[in-house]
Amino acid sequence: MTTYDPSNIFAKILRGEIPCHRVYEDAHVLAFMDVMPQADGHLLVVPKAPSRNLLDADPAIFGPLMAAVQKLARAAKQAFGADGVLIKQFNEPAAGQTVFHLHVHVLPRHVGMELRPHSGKMADHAVLARHAEMIRAALG
Ligand code: AMP
Repeated sequence: MTTYDPSNIFAKILRGEIPCHRVYEDAHVLAFMDVMPQADGHLLVVPKAPSRNLLDADPAIFGPLMAAVQKLARAAKQAFGADGVLIKQFNEPAAGQTVFHLHVHVLPRHVGMELRPHSGKMADHAVLARHAEMIRAALG
């Protein structure tokens, strides 16, 4: 299927049908912790408007989406004392996409520290809750 499927897990999170470790929300986006973080502080920024990925998205959402990504990248970098921030985004299974609602990954990076595998191990929820709180605190 290459059309938008509203039963995807991020659509359910956006509708409040399943929980998430929420970090930030505005009129255009919701940001929450990735449950299988590749680095401490790994979060996802999800536009509220439905699209499968970047390829079918309305370009009008990119401004507010990237503004939120920048805000969250700065906060995550500060919260984790990171040396840099990796931003990544996958389109279609061939490119590594596993959840089919557009989302941008924000990962604090430290020099010399390897990333954990993509869609690897589920993190402890208490740890995710603490990391979400650290980033919310850095957002001010
Ligand atoms: P991708 O579609 O390849 O960009 O990756 C989807 C990401 O969503 C992966 O990094 C998963 O760990 C993450 N993920 C999957 N289910 C959930 C969930 N319920 N809450 C938060 N993150 C999730």
